[in-house]
Amino acid sequence: MSNLVYIAYLVAAVCFILALKGLSSPASARTGNKLGMAGMAIAILTTLTLPSVQSFGMIILGLAIGGAIGYVIAKKIKMTAMPQLVAAFHSLVGLAAVFVAAAALWSPEAYGIGVTGSIGAGSLIEMGLGAAIGAITFSGSVIAFAKLQGLVSGAPVRFAGQHALNAAIAIGIVVLIALFCGTESKTLFILLLLASFAIGFLLIIPIGGADMPVVVSMLNSYSGWAAVGIGFTLGNPLLIITGALVGASGAILSYIMCKAMNRSIINVIFGGFGAEAAAGPAAAAGDRSVKSGSAEDAGFMMENASSVIIVPGYGMAVAQAQHAVRELGETLEKAGISVRYAIHPVAGRMPGHMNVLLAEANVPYDSVFELDEINRDFSSTDVVYVIGANDITNPAAKSDPASPIYGMPILDVAAAKTVIFVKRGMAAGYAGIENALFYQQNTMMLFGDAKKVTEELIKSLNGGGH
Ligand code: NDP
Repeated sequence: MSNLVYIAYLVAAVCFILALKGLSSPASARTGNKLGMAGMAIAILTTLTLPSVQSFGMIILGLAIGGAIGYVIAKKIKMTAMPQLVAAFHSLVGLAAVFVAAAALWSPEAYGIGVTGSIGAGSLIEMGLGAAIGAITFSGSVIAFAKLQGLVSGAPVRFAGQHALNAAIAIGIVVLIALFCGTESKTLFILLLLASFAIGFLLIIPIGGADMPVVVSMLNSYSGWAAVGIGFTLGNPLLIITGALVGASGAILSYIMCKAMNRSIINVIFGGFGAEAAAGPAAAAGDRSVKSGSAEDAGFMMENASSVIIVPGYGMAVAQAQHAVRELGETLEKAGISVRYAIHPVAGRMPGHMNVLLAEANVPYDSVFELDEINRDFSSTDVVYVIGANDITNPAAKSDPASPIYGMPILDVAAAKTVIFVKRGMAAGYAGIENALFYQQNTMMLFGDAKKVTEELIKSLNGGGH
């Protein structure tokens, strides 16, 4: 590779690092995205100038087909379906790593790593590791996609001896890699792939509904390391750097998500974390009744409040109610009422989901607070407006060791004087469990679509003011 290529790759790598830095705050996220795109454009164009690129026909065809599919998906995808899309994309990275390793093994001459029967030990180690990580990423991501898309049940699947089986397969993978590196046997390579596909599957099936965010970020990390494997096999330094950035940032995100969910990172990596019991109602509904009110009732409560906290959740994203929510906040502030927004780390269906929606609606960043910044303030708040959120407020996470969300920190909305829950009916949230807060004395249910109900509330505040 010429010096110019190395310089261009360095520039692209710096763009990727700055992109990650930009994405760390909603204020700089757009610039971060642009830098990422610029880095990728530089990377692709530079790679096309490499002498090893002998014909452009297949490359252009691949770019055209892949680009067209990506364009259509990006245009059509709903924000609420992002986690499964991300999982599907991770599976492709894993599969690419498997194919590149296989191609290098079957045709080492084309990769300049020796001839069949005498591939260098270093290349065999890279190939073995890259193929194993790629295969784990692929099958794990396919299961995550199926769970998130609702194609298979999101409930954890556990069976006796699961951990022992996982450990045995993991040891088997290490042994197979060692034997493969010593023999260059294609049969061992295929066995290695089969064992890795199996463990990817087994690591993800025991993970339950509410823990899926951690799985998505963990697979993100795996896909980065799979890309590193491809980078080594292809001898491409930029791919190694980029893969390492994705791998490391995915690992950091997994760690942050684990802390937010009160889970152990070790359990996540080795699969099967969370509570042992299957999902079930936190308490039987029995003869308890809920208090439901109208938008006018909610308007009356808010007019008489001096502080309001808005807690957005998945339902706000489904209803696309973020603009109405911002308008509600502005209306209340005009009336002299303090308005803040409380964001739970796993609210919605992807990390940062609520932050993105509120930023899109131009909610000021300084009125948006993370769980630990605001949780103590609920007890001194008059009204909490929980819009389309459920699991992230569910006290079963604190009180019911059998609950699948047990141990997850929640937003302590019940501590406020009044809690208004906006949702369409009494349905459970993502984790499939009942929320006892709906039956609490200081709770009022406001049934209806999040956007419609919020618009009615604004109307009542504007029309029915004192
Ligand atoms: P939940 O899924 O717990 O609850 C959302 C609630 O919104 C539902 O109970 C639903 O009730 C209501 N809803 C749905 N559509 C509408 C609508 N149009 N208008 C009004 N309400 C509506 O969401 P939370 O945000 O509280 O919690 C997120 C959950 O998702 C957690 O369990 C988390 O672990 C999981 N998860 C998070 C990911 C992430 O990265 N953030 C990724 C994958 C899963 P009803 O049907 O009665 O209206």
